[in-house]
Amino acid sequence: MGYVIMLKEKFAREQWILAHELTHIAQQEQMGREAFVRSFIAERKLMGYRRAPLELEANRLALEFM
Ligand SMILES: [Zn+2]
Repeated sequence: MGYVIMLKEKFAREQWILAHELTHIAQQEQMGREAFVRSFIAERKLMGYRRAPLELEANRLALEFM
C-alpha cells in the first residue's frame, strides 16, 4: 500500500508542509506503521504538538530541506 498526503488547498503550494508530511512517512517506514501511529498519538496526547518528538523531528528536517 502506498501513501497519500492530503492538504487543504490553501497549503497545497507550501513546500515546508509537504516536507514535514514526507518526514512522517519516513518515520512510518522506519518504525512500522502501528508503532508510529501509537507513538504519534501518545506523544501528542502526553506532550502536546509542540513538544512531541516525532513532530519536532518533522519540523527540523522540513526546515533543513528548505
Ligand atoms: Zn506533523
